[in-house]
Order: sequence, then C-alpha cells, then structure tokens
Amino acid sequence: MTATAVHGEHLLPVYARRDVCFVRGEGCELIDDTGRRFLDFTSGIGVNALGYGHPVLRAAIQAAAANGLLHVSNLYRHRPGEELAALLTSHTSGSQVFFTNSGAEAVEGALKFARRAAADDGKHEIVAVRGGFHGRTFGALSVTDRSDYRRPFEPLVPGIRFVEPDDLAQAAAAIHPDHTAAVIVEPVQGEGGVRPMPPGFLRFLRDCCDRANCALIFDEIQCGLGRTGIRFAHEHSGVHPDILVLAKPLGGGLPMGAVVLHEEIAALVEPGDHGSTFGGGPFVASVALACARTILQPDFLSAVRERGRILGDRLNRWMGRPGVIDVRGVGLMWGVEMADSVGPIVDRAFDAGLLILQAGPHVLRFLPPLVISPEDLERGVDMLEEVL
Ligand SMILES: *Cc1c(COP(=O)(O)O)cnc(C)c1O
Repeated sequence: MTATAVHGEHLLPVYARRDVCFVRGEGCELIDDTGRRFLDFTSGIGVNALGYGHPVLRAAIQAAAANGLLHVSNLYRHRPGEELAALLTSHTSGSQVFFTNSGAEAVEGALKFARRAAADDGKHEIVAVRGGFHGRTFGALSVTDRSDYRRPFEPLVPGIRFVEPDDLAQAAAAIHPDHTAAVIVEPVQGEGGVRPMPPGFLRFLRDCCDRANCALIFDEIQCGLGRTGIRFAHEHSGVHPDILVLAKPLGGGLPMGAVVLHEEIAALVEPGDHGSTFGGGPFVASVALACARTILQPDFLSAVRERGRILGDRLNRWMGRPGVIDVRGVGLMWGVEMADSVGPIVDRAFDAGLLILQAGPHVLRFLPPLVISPEDLERGVDMLEEVL
C-alpha cells in the first residue's frame, strides 16, 4: 500500500463523515483499509439494493464498457436508454421517461413538467407534505419540510404549501383548481422518519388532484423499486400517480434518476422545455437495465417480502422495551422511533461492526440490501440488541 498524508481535508465538510475508509465490498459487507468487515444495513442510503459485487452488475458493467459508448448525447438514439424507458413504463402507469443523474434532479424535472403542464391554465402552486424530503437543489428543497436545511437558503421557490399527512380537510383546502399545479408526496417517507402514508390519504390526494386537474407526483426515490417488497410502494395503496420519480437503487450504484410521466402530462411537454447532458447515457442505462430487470422479477420481490417479514418480526418485538416509542415499516424499509436521540446507538453499532442509519434525531432507519440473507438480517439485529 502506498503511504499517503491525504485524509479528506480537501472535501467540503457538508457531511459529518465517519473516520473509516472503505476499500472493498462483498455481498452485504464493506471492508475498510485495516481489513475490518462491517455488515451494511444502509445500502449506501438505499442505493446498493443488490449489495456489493453482484454478478449481474459485474456482467452488465463489463458488457457496457466493451463497446466504448460511455456517453452518447441526447441528440441521438441509443438502445439501453430506450429499453430502460420501455421497461419502466411497462411496470407503471406512465408512458414516457426522462432520465437524470440524481434524485434531486429527477424531482426538479417532475416539478418542471407539472408546472409546464399547468402553465397554460396559469397555475403554479405546489402542495407538499409535512415531514417530506425531496432533495437539496432549490426546487427540491422548496418542497422539503426541514427548516434547518431550508433556512440558510431562503427565499426558496414561491407558491409551496405544506399539509399534514392524513389531514384530509387541510389537503382539500390546499389543493385548488385555480392555483395548484401539483401535489408531491413520498408514499413512504424516508428521511422524515420512515413513515408509510395511509392508503386512504394517498387515495384522497388522488381524488383532490383529479378534481383540481393537477398532477399527483409520487417521489419513490427511496421507497421504490422493490424496497417495500413490491415493485413500487404506491401499489400497496392501489393509487397511481401522474408522475413517478425514481433514483437511488435504479442505477445499481451508478448515479441515475428517472421521471416516469403519464401520457397526459407527457403530451404537454415540448422539445426544449427541459434537458440534461448526461441524463440516461448508454453506460448507466445498461447497468440500470440489468439492475431493474433483476429487482422487478416476481421471485426476487417475493424474497424481499420474506426477508422483510423476518426483519419486521424481530423489530416488532422491540415494542414495549424501555425507550422504544414506535416500530414501523414495510418490506426492507423499517424505522424504530426512540424516546432519546439514536446517535449513540448508531455509534455503538458501528463499533460493533454494523452500519445503520438515522432518519432524524429519534428514528433508527433500516435499509439493508434487498439481497441480504436471513442469517445476516438476524445477525445484524442480534448486534443491535447487544448494543441496546
Ligand atoms: C435521497 C432522496 C432524494 C434526493 O436524492 P439525491 O440523489 O440525494 O439528490 C429525494 N427524495 C427522496 C425520497 C430521497 O430519499
């Protein structure tokens, strides 16, 4: 190994980075530069759904690199992008796809397409949900309900109204036929504390959007693509969006997002309305195609549900323990809300060799790779119980 004095001091410290340097990943484990192994219950914040070194991804990366087409501009056609768009529309109510390089960029696209579709009616307001998180760029931040993220950057995009989850009267009043261009919601809130939205609330938002003739946007960047044990989290409710936003696991670890649009919205978007130089290039699209095809197989999804039951059963037994306020989740997306700050638990889990997330100060968040074995799930929960 080459000795080096570099220690990340040139990285802008917008993240409170832990002092561990990972050099390898195998399955559901990360290995640091001293050879220490960590079991990963974070999936790189919901990205590494297939874990590390998955044979499908290795093969896709090698095949995609072989023809030299890392990038082709969006002025021309290429097959991987067209095939991925066809795959995503075949599994959703959407008919057209716009590809991006991140979640926030996909949210920006969704907001712009909804605004574009409503512009001729002179409508521009967006309704968002308390506790929601949609990203850090100006538009995405404007519909994100975290005052500490927002305050230093105000004024943000105007015309945003927030409603409480499941407050139907408030939603009915906020979603207005003369003003509202779109409603944006995560079917399962991630960063906001792992909160599944009640199906009745999603259905009510759908009705309000139909009445007000505005777009319903589901942000499934974290909860979509198999995470909740079915293809997309909104399918638990039977409610379909006009615009579906995907990202985190889509590219198998490569940066990629997608905006899937219903044909009625897509028909109102014209050439020149939006763009992205890198969005949906052939290399990332090839890898995403392999990743999405793998996740969307019925056998793969039923295995996620099975593992989700194992994790849910273990965590539900924590109810009634001192300090545990709530256990909630679906599939392999779980949160445990505690009375005290969970920071010290995350630290002690790390010391014990387990990587786990928080969602706000009081919620422990579980996002293990979708391919995790039942044994590793049990092992991780055992480690946490030891720590607790
Ligand atoms: C992570 C996340 C985003 C932002 O994605 P980035 O790739 O970090 O920009 C948006 N919405 C939800 C629900 C997310 O979990």
